[in-house]
Amino acid sequence: MIKGNNFRVLLLDDDRFMHEFIGDLLSDLGVKETLVAKDGADGLRVLSNQEGVFDLLICDIEMPGMDGIEFLRNIASQGYTGHIALLSGIDANLLRAAERLANAHGLRMVGVIEKPVKIDALKALFAKIALTNNENIDRPNDAHKKKVFSVDEIKQGMADDQFDVYVQPKVFVQDKRISGVECLARWYHPQFGLVSPDDFISIIEENNLIYDFTLMIFRKSVAQLAEWKQQGLDLKVAVNLSMDNLDRTNLPETFEAILQKTNVSSHQIILELTESKLGKNMALSLDILTRLRLKGFELSIDDFGTGFSTMETLRSLPFTELKIDQTFVRSALTDPSSRAIIESSIQLAKTLNLNLVAEGVETQVEWDLMATLGCGCVQGFFVARPMPRVEFTTWAAHNGGGHR
Ligand code: C2E
Ligand code: CA
Ligand code: CA
Repeated sequence: MIKGNNFRVLLLDDDRFMHEFIGDLLSDLGVKETLVAKDGADGLRVLSNQEGVFDLLICDIEMPGMDGIEFLRNIASQGYTGHIALLSGIDANLLRAAERLANAHGLRMVGVIEKPVKIDALKALFAKIALTNNENIDRPNDAHKKKVFSVDEIKQGMADDQFDVYVQPKVFVQDKRISGVECLARWYHPQFGLVSPDDFISIIEENNLIYDFTLMIFRKSVAQLAEWKQQGLDLKVAVNLSMDNLDRTNLPETFEAILQKTNVSSHQIILELTESKLGKNMALSLDILTRLRLKGFELSIDDFGTGFSTMETLRSLPFTELKIDQTFVRSALTDPSSRAIIESSIQLAKTLNLNLVAEGVETQVEWDLMATLGCGCVQGFFVARPMPRVEFTTWAAHNGGGHR
């Protein structure tokens, strides 16, 4: 899973046997070097002698001398930025509490490993690290491949109404009925043609344009739904929000005002938020999200499974839908840990009474797997690629959905 790189691990455990046992498992998984420490103080010594961070730091909670909790507090105060996993034979709840504490310290937790340690648990950790690393390096890596637009170009594009939405259907697995569409921003660039959101959303976010941008997309999406409704096509429309949108207290009122003069109800609008970015200003975000729900908007947690405090987030925020990230769907057929993540997400959605959407379903085999696993809705190229919104009515007519 981590073949061909120079992955380095630091393992803190007072048990020599564990040093050898875990060391062997790690080397089977392709880890180049595992350093060990016998307690927290020893761990701090190793860190102070090292340049930079380890790719993974595995920390036992119970150790004589400086225990895991004290060690984590210490490295948090030093601003340690590497990935950390907790290890323990103590009961699962205590282990989760330690994980929450580490999260509260702002440490970069990737998970917990219960003793006895199994190789699959380590594999799952590496998968998670690979995912978060990919997310982090995507931007700079992609920069040379794509055109980098300036803020002024984007501002001009917005002023000239060059942005619009493509729509991609979501369908129920059981009967293939259309449940709704997701509106995906596109830039009809006069020179470069159709530009995808990955090339402009982050620039928009970084330059404080996301509020205006989101309102524009929201207005267009609502206007489109209003038109479809008049034609007898009744469905739900999903709009993507940026976490940066959750900094204006009156966002729920603003959305509500946009709906006011239309035939569209807030119950037909799903607002999608990416989980990995949740939690910047928790109190304000929670205030806005709660009031959006009170006003009838549905809330969907996007790219589910790629963020950190997954369970915690779900418990404390009023979501109505969970969208399993494409990466899990894509690897589900070959990687048992991805499949396990999908299965447990489906279970979680059922327990918490959330709608579940599997994103990125590209093939019949993937569709069949999602059906077998009991997934509620599917979105992906297998059903349809995102399309210009004017093409959707024809597509819907041929695919038997939407009309009620
Ligand atoms: P997302 O919200 O996760 O949207 C799903 C992305 O996956 C879309 O990419 C869609 O075209 C793509 N996709 C759907 N099915 C498949 C499939 O079967 N296979 C593959 N390989 N890809 C599939 P798109 O349209 O390029 O959008 C990328 C991201 O940009 C979105 O990811 C979303 O995070 C962001 N985005 C799009 N529109 C907006 C917007 O209006 N506002 C904000 N804040 N973000 C937006
Ligand atoms: Ca989305
Ligand atoms: Ca997604």
